[in-house]
Amino acid sequence: MKSDIIQPFYGMGVSKMPELPCSHCGQRMVVNIGEMHAPQSQPARLSGTAICRKCDKSTGFELQDNMIHYIEGKRIYGSIDSKVPTIAQAFFAEAELCSRSAAPNAVAAMCRASIEAMLNERGFRGNNLKHQIDLAVEKKALNQDESALANGSRLLANTAIHSGELISVSHIPSILAVTVVVLNKLVYSF
Ligand SMILES: [Zn+2]
Repeated sequence: MKSDIIQPFYGMGVSKMPELPCSHCGQRMVVNIGEMHAPQSQPARLSGTAICRKCDKSTGFELQDNMIHYIEGKRIYGSIDSKVPTIAQAFFAEAELCSRSAAPNAVAAMCRASIEAMLNERGFRGNNLKHQIDLAVEKKALNQDESALANGSRLLANTAIHSGELISVSHIPSILAVTVVVLNKLVYSF
């Protein structure tokens, strides 16, 4: 959406919407929410990407009850090692693309896929992802903390894919950060 008009209207007595800073150039943006797209019931949560008029780049955001709940920042979640196998890198790149669109369920699914691909590449092939993670722990490729992170990513993606519940956009940096930790560890644990 490209707009500089604020139209908070969903019945909370709010007359001003918060301004979003552009993640790229810092330009302040205000969000114009058309009535047709506004949430009809509380809690009101609205997520999307705002396109900056100054630099034309997009910034993912989430508003909850007229407050900024999440805004895409700089890359605070780290980078994956160049030695991560191509297939796992490809899934992670897709996760990053989804994060640019503020699509948390897609991010969770792609991060899970990248961890699964990484475990396959490393020869940890099991009946399911939980089994694969357990095998990696047995072989000391992942420690207890890392296995907890990998399992967290697995469970969150299950929620994202199967229960139909929308994960919050504010989870995106953590999901990406966890994936970076697990992928990088599996590069050097041999
Ligand atoms: Zn900008």
